[in-house]
Amino acid sequence: MPHDISIILRPEEAANEPGIKRAIATQLNIGTGDIGHYIITRKSIDARRGRVSVNLGVRVFMPDEPVVGQRSLFIYRDVHRSKPVVVVGAGPAGLFAALRLIELGIKPIVLERGKSVSDRKRDIAKLNREHRLNPNSNYAFGEGGAGTFSDGKLYTRSKKRGDYRRIIQVLIDHGADEAIAYEAHPHIGTDRLPRIITRIRETILQHGGEVLFGSRVASLIIKNERTVGVVLSDGQNINGEAVILATGHSARDIYEMLNRQGVTLEPKPFAMGVRVEHPQMLIDSIQYHGIPRSEYLPAASYSLVHQVEGRGVYSFCMCPGGFIVPAATATDEVVVNGMSPSGRNSRWANSGIVVEIRLDDLAQYAQYGIFAGLQLQAELERLSKLHGGYGVQAPAQRLADFIEGRASTNLPSCSYHPGLTSSNLHEWLPTHIGMRLQQGFKVFGKKMWGFLTNEAAILGVESRTSSPIRIPRNSESLQHVSIKGLFPAGEGAGYAGGIVSSALDGTLIADAVATYVLG
Ligand SMILES: Cc1cc2nc3c(=O)[nH]c(=O)nc-3n(C[C@H](O)[C@H](O)[C@H](O)COP(=O)(O)OP(=O)(O)OC[C@H]3O[C@@H](n4cnc5c(N)ncnc54)[C@H](O)[C@@H]3O)c2cc1C
Repeated sequence: MPHDISIILRPEEAANEPGIKRAIATQLNIGTGDIGHYIITRKSIDARRGRVSVNLGVRVFMPDEPVVGQRSLFIYRDVHRSKPVVVVGAGPAGLFAALRLIELGIKPIVLERGKSVSDRKRDIAKLNREHRLNPNSNYAFGEGGAGTFSDGKLYTRSKKRGDYRRIIQVLIDHGADEAIAYEAHPHIGTDRLPRIITRIRETILQHGGEVLFGSRVASLIIKNERTVGVVLSDGQNINGEAVILATGHSARDIYEMLNRQGVTLEPKPFAMGVRVEHPQMLIDSIQYHGIPRSEYLPAASYSLVHQVEGRGVYSFCMCPGGFIVPAATATDEVVVNGMSPSGRNSRWANSGIVVEIRLDDLAQYAQYGIFAGLQLQAELERLSKLHGGYGVQAPAQRLADFIEGRASTNLPSCSYHPGLTSSNLHEWLPTHIGMRLQQGFKVFGKKMWGFLTNEAAILGVESRTSSPIRIPRNSESLQHVSIKGLFPAGEGAGYAGGIVSSALDGTLIADAVATYVLG
């Protein structure tokens, strides 16, 4: 029987095999030569109580023991001639739904408004360098969806909603580092995600699925209250036994289309705010107790939350060693978000700091009905553009100046490639957001001494954290509450928030589709 043990090491010991073997041998009271093989099952950094250590979970095999890993196997069937199901959107929800459909013997036809991930890279370069936004190919739209050019964080709070390990294993099978299976806070990085996404597409195609780029869905084909396909913006009909709608939360035209076609939608709470950026060295110094970060430690991160006047103010999508990116999908808006390469090795640390928005906060937008939240989002994105200056330059303020309520006379260097324009954000952020951010930052400055500094800048606006709209599903069949054969999935449907939870939701939905299509 292998031994499952926990060991605590100094970062430099955890970085090499002899160090790990010595700790295993001490713990099991054996010699290092008595260890046949070991597998790391868990890894986390503990920087509490003024020191930094690495906690490892390890499965140890003796020399004569067979090594049994945790690998699971997926059997993808040949679906060239199987019943077709339309999957709208090639983000995590759509791609993982497609893979699961293939396992279940159904042919996915994936329709994506954007381009393949390699062509998408070129549009993103143009956006950063020339401020030219392609409304169908950007940080939100295109193969891989919104998280393709991201930090690729794989943490989720919704592990109970499906088999988290299945998602991780699919990513490993398609080229992700095996470490994502055991790290407490796994991430992939923007430099590695595109290759993984491409391989997922290759799996879909090899087994008989289809992936069509430049295919924007403009309406649903509903016959006798059953969805039997979609119409593309060029007028082409794509038919299927059912439609999985996994279009993400930035596809506002999809919500408008659904509303026009009489498909019930519901408003839901969401969050908005700004993105804050510090020098990474400062965050390292705060989190690692002033000890300079050695090569054995990752760029430090943080997670902050506080209640201000009945609403949560919290950090969101923290990107250590990362970059702030322009994540808008239309030319009249500025939206910011964050990403990191796998090495998390830039000079900066950024994070969204957002305020919870409840339906009661939207009274001013009541005339927009279910679209009230979308209206607030869109309005702040337009204001962000107006105060950002040229193209997708972002309005920005030094953090301590924001707390004091004064415009910054100059701005610190920043990772945001398109550039910044100084703006007093209090002048245009609604008070219920601006005031709460101000109070929240003050508290965060006490929780992390040094956080509240004029070396940091805040950029507007971080508005696409989650969907302000839900496409309601029947809790049993997971179809839309009133339209048969329509399966809303992922973040845009309001049932996920993040790469893993969207992938989990896509998988769950594919199972429900199989019950509907195959009986
Ligand atoms: C810059 C950035 C960084 C992020 N970092 C992280 C992170 O580190 N970790 C994390 O967990 N989450 C991160 N996120 C959030 C994460 O990407 C999303 O939660 C996730 O991608 C949602 O998955 P989804 O499949 O539901 O939707 P999406 O990923 O939004 O995919 C929807 C897809 O549908 C397509 N589409 C839209 N409308 C149509 C239409 N009419 N016809 C055809 N296709 C259409 C879009 O082009 C898109 O490809 C980040 C997001 C961004 C923008």
